[in-house]
Amino acid sequence: MNAYDCLINGYKEYKEDYLSAENKAWLDFHSTGQAPKVMCIACSDSRIGPAMFTKSNLGDIFMVRSVANIVPPYNEEGGADSTSAALEYAVNHLKVEHIVVMGHSGCGGIAAMMNGDIDENTDGFKFIKPWVNLVANAGQGECDPTVCEKKGVMLSLQNLMSFPWINEKVEAGSLSLHGWHFDIASGGLSEFQEETQSFKEVV
Ligand SMILES: [Zn+2]
Repeated sequence: MNAYDCLINGYKEYKEDYLSAENKAWLDFHSTGQAPKVMCIACSDSRIGPAMFTKSNLGDIFMVRSVANIVPPYNEEGGADSTSAALEYAVNHLKVEHIVVMGHSGCGGIAAMMNGDIDENTDGFKFIKPWVNLVANAGQGECDPTVCEKKGVMLSLQNLMSFPWINEKVEAGSLSLHGWHFDIASGGLSEFQEETQSFKEVV
């Protein structure tokens, strides 16, 4: 069976559970709107699933997936940036209470950022390189990918605070920002600690 047929087969099985009597209360409540308390900005990498590994349900997490889970700095001119649009919607309209930026081991986007031989004129990197260069400071003088992945998360947390309406809510205590790094091989999750400016394993 090819990969696409696997998707359709999976959907057919899933639909039975989705429309089951057990799920009716959830459908009744959620089919008319969403009210997630958490927004997560994670890499598009196929090997990580923040909703799966936190055992979250549909409706729990407002999700952004992008190359290298980058938050660009606030642009007061506005403009067509999907991450900023998602932030505006989640923070100002859905009023989420937590934003999690999640990096991970073996991130191809961070590797591309670190690779000095690649620039936007290199075949296949015309869009990737300018995007990952938004966190180029995470790679300055650093050759350990894990360190760069974590620094990339820290830079995105700093960039979140450049959005005036995020800064205001964080200062007021109605919004909390969190930085995570997930290790694919071990399943380890570490969390950014503001006090020590370092990451600590959750368990
Ligand atoms: Zn990645």
